Amino acid sequence: MHCPFLNESQVRSCRVASVRKLIPHLSPADAGRCATTQFTTCAAFQEQHQDCSGAPTCPYLQESLMQFCSASPVQRYVPWSEASVSKCGCGAYRYCDLYLDLTEASAHRNGAQSTEDALPVPPALQYAANHMWLDQAEDGLCHVGIDALFSRLLGRIERVDFITMPGSQGLGRGKLSATAVVRAGGSDWQVVFPRPMKISACNLMLRSDPSRLSTDPYGRGWLFAGTGVDTTGLVTGEQAALWMQDETRQLNEFVQERSGCCADGGMIVPGLLDKLRREDALVLFSGFLSPAADAARPHQATDAGKGDRR
Ligand code: SF4
Ligand code: SF4
Repeated sequence: MHCPFLNESQVRSCRVASVRKLIPHLSPADAGRCATTQFTTCAAFQEQHQDCSGAPTCPYLQESLMQFCSASPVQRYVPWSEASVSKCGCGAYRYCDLYLDLTEASAHRNGAQSTEDALPVPPALQYAANHMWLDQAEDGLCHVGIDALFSRLLGRIERVDFITMPGSQGLGRGKLSATAVVRAGGSDWQVVFPRPMKISACNLMLRSDPSRLSTDPYGRGWLFAGTGVDTTGLVTGEQAALWMQDETRQLNEFVQERSGCCADGGMIVPGLLDKLRREDALVLFSGFLSPAADAARPHQATDAGKGDRR
């Protein structure tokens, strides 16, 4: 599994040049003196004091297979061995900003569309009951983030801090519950993916641009990447859509009960947590968005309405 924009090319370089410069594979006619008998006029060759008379090309000209991003405006070559561990050569490419810019994959990810009265629920993602999503690639690499409802409840995001980072030590076998603290409406909220995972990356772009969590929660707003997640009990596809409908209904009922406002069943107002009384906001967060919500989840979305968190 690799990014469709990742291409490969034979490149040539000079083994004795002080600055290593890679040149895409060219025909001998285009390759200049290095690939012709003219190499003997090169100062770098002459400094080696080797007698290579009669050789058709310079002995210091070497070829290697490199990979490069064909979408990048600045071409950067990556040795084949390194590409396999970069985001370009594994499932992580789907969260590369450049890839997302070119494909608009996050805006229309897997056909999920936002409507006036329904939040997008990309059917290919898996959802924990505390409104965090998981995207598992074929190679096992997972990305996690908050879903559209979580994002809407938070409203304008002011800051994101990561509590767990790659290499963080947890209790038992190096797996942790990926945790970040998100500041919204002047309050800090602890965002926890409720299944332990071995964290390999955090989305550090969120530090400089926390608004990504609001504008693109399923794409550029991803929080953590890692492996080894137990997906038991996560819902997906049609089941996830039904569950989201039920969650929206329960939230409306919660707001009506706590605030006395009429719940009209419409879209939840952005930044609702900031608009409620502090104690009501804490109850809402605990019941819908904390790991406790996941622990209490009925395992079938059709049973979701049976979980009363009021
Ligand atoms: S001619 Fe040989 S030594 Fe000179 S730059 Fe080319 S490869 Fe290097
Ligand atoms: S930099 Fe991004 S778009 Fe380019 S090959 Fe890598 S993952 Fe793909």
